[in-house]
Amino acid sequence: MTEPKYKRVIMKISGEALCSPNNKPLDFDIIDNVTEQIIDIAAQGVEIGIIVGGGNIWRGARVGKHMDRTTADYMGMLATVINALALQDSLEEKGLQTRVQTAIEMRQIAEPYIRRKAVKHLEKGRVVIFACGTGNPYFSTDTAAALRAAEMEVDLIMLAKNVDAVYDSDPKENPGAVRFDSISYMDVINRGLSVMDNTAITLCMDNHIPINVFGVNEKDSIRRVVFGEEIGTMIR
Ligand code: UDP
Repeated sequence: MTEPKYKRVIMKISGEALCSPNNKPLDFDIIDNVTEQIIDIAAQGVEIGIIVGGGNIWRGARVGKHMDRTTADYMGMLATVINALALQDSLEEKGLQTRVQTAIEMRQIAEPYIRRKAVKHLEKGRVVIFACGTGNPYFSTDTAAALRAAEMEVDLIMLAKNVDAVYDSDPKENPGAVRFDSISYMDVINRGLSVMDNTAITLCMDNHIPINVFGVNEKDSIRRVVFGEEIGTMIR
């Protein structure tokens, strides 16, 4: 296939996907691998919005009873800004124009999220990196990916993970874990699969947005997904 299958995508990159094997929060080789592939698909005319997570640095729900949850979630949202700036720097260094838009204003660092502006940037071939998730505590960057995907009217959510697909249990702990090539939104919810939280899945289901879960560290995975190769798991 010579033409990309998808014209506009949201790519969700979890914080953990940027983490080094020895748990350094940002691994610049991994970031380079991801951004090189993004440059490649942008050059094919694919419009790309990126939602980046923050779990490599901070997860609000994890601190549980030690902190006020809302404060902890704001710290998580700030963590996504650190990752967004790292991705922006890497993309711009390779010559791609980007904008970071934050769901919580921090104008010295990035633009505030404005939907119409974000669409204009995409149309001009700029990669838009959406940071701070939805801007609200008690939500996740998965839900932010579903929300921005609906707002940007994308063809696909690319869920870049450090596992290569959706399984019925953790393949690292259970060698017999069953891998899904495709699965319905309802099956993900009914089986309690921890691929995306239920709020995010429901939003995608209601708005008919397909989700391709794939391993970001697999060779050329981003390019292969955009060109319509069915790698990983398709949720639809
Ligand atoms: N977060 C939040 N609201 C949002 C998005 C994120 O409160 O809309 C906080 C939450 O504490 C979360 C943290 O930011 O744990 C990091 O985001 P997430 O866990 O989604 O990152 P990922 O797992 O994708 O790295």
